[in-house]
Amino acid sequence: MQLLRGTKDILPDETVLWQHIEKTTSKIMKLANYHEIRTPIIESTSLFKRSIGNGTDIVNKEMYSFIDQSAREITLRPEGTASIARAFINNKLYTDNTTKRLWYLGPMFRYERPQQGRQRQFHQLGIECIGSLNPIADAEVIRIAHKLLNELECSDYIMEINSIGQLEERNKYKQSFIEYLEPYVSDLDNNSRNKLYTNPLKILDSKNTKTQEIIYNAPCLYDYLETPSKKHFEKVCEYLEFLNISYKINKQLVRGLDYYNYTAFEIKTNSLGTQDTICGGGRYDALIQELGGPYIPSVGWAIGIERLLLTIKNQLDQKIEKTKPMVYLAVDGHNTEKEILNIIQILEKKNISYNLDLDNNSLQKQLKKANKQGAKACLILRDYEVKNNCITLKKMSTSEQKQFNIININDLIQTLENMN
Ligand code: ATP
Ligand code: MG
Repeated sequence: MQLLRGTKDILPDETVLWQHIEKTTSKIMKLANYHEIRTPIIESTSLFKRSIGNGTDIVNKEMYSFIDQSAREITLRPEGTASIARAFINNKLYTDNTTKRLWYLGPMFRYERPQQGRQRQFHQLGIECIGSLNPIADAEVIRIAHKLLNELECSDYIMEINSIGQLEERNKYKQSFIEYLEPYVSDLDNNSRNKLYTNPLKILDSKNTKTQEIIYNAPCLYDYLETPSKKHFEKVCEYLEFLNISYKINKQLVRGLDYYNYTAFEIKTNSLGTQDTICGGGRYDALIQELGGPYIPSVGWAIGIERLLLTIKNQLDQKIEKTKPMVYLAVDGHNTEKEILNIIQILEKKNISYNLDLDNNSLQKQLKKANKQGAKACLILRDYEVKNNCITLKKMSTSEQKQFNIININDLIQTLENMN
């Protein structure tokens, strides 16, 4: 049986890195009063159509959608924000009128061409600051992304930021942009040409050189923004400067989802080649209302864990000590089983980790394995030890052996604890 294209098994060697990311995240979120939310992986297809937008790549070609046994249209979530907005409304989290700060981490699904940093099942870690129009909220979420990346020793990145204004401003701009592009239609790359009337802003994002050349002289979205949009943007930039967070204004930056307004930003690393965006986010003031809730301005981001890991795996690998069994349990004999089960329960009570050899090898081989696995000590239990109510401890670093009484096991435990 083959694993599905675009999916990956995360094996124990790597799960320790994931656990490190989770632990670091959880610590930072707790400090900043962000609370974890877990929403279902399946949602109604209409949720994503309405929130992400019909003209977007995600909705047009990347969704894993199916009809269930009761003819419901269902989709495996391609991102987290839409589900959180839905949960926010369904659970009436707005009734006390306070800002809600939420974070999530989980698998997302998009039918894309798999390549380095691009999978069909991937994971996003995201935060949402729900209920504030204040530009300080934008700065807060950006600062937390920055803090998290630094704590995870990811430093080789640059944050790009832009304001994409309000819907009306964008609509005016779209009109001029389309008019500007129309004479060049035949020179645009296929993908951009297809987006001309459905999702023209995304053309700004094209990596095609010819398209980029055409766009170079196009009208600029920023020039279509009115004072409130510009003011908001200036404030966010001012706070970032105050926080010493370096950023680059990229006036061509737009996001692949329809629900954003005002601030849009991406964090890109220098070490990943084409799939270089590890974090994308922005403000989404209208989304909750659009999904049937009250008007609640919000801002957030999502980090792709797999892409993040590609950039920090080597440093983390060195930093995180793989847990080695402290005590290797070597057994050799016919009457040792119950005794060793007793020993295990005692070790567990004392928080001493152990690895019981189940392979029925000779004692010699078991000792070799203990060495190979980096155990600090080996406890040897043979028929001899059982008969004499004792157990033999072998210290791996010196090969010293000593016997301990098993009726009063305190001496043994103390010796093991001192070896830590
Ligand atoms: P891209 O332009 O690379 O397709 P996107 O704009 O579609 O990214 P977002 O929807 O903003 O991505 O998602 C936020 C982050 O999630 C991305 O910056 C990336 O790190 C990660 N991500 C998105 N799609 C994938 C994928 N198919 N595989 C792995 N990570 C992904
Ligand atoms: Mg994408």
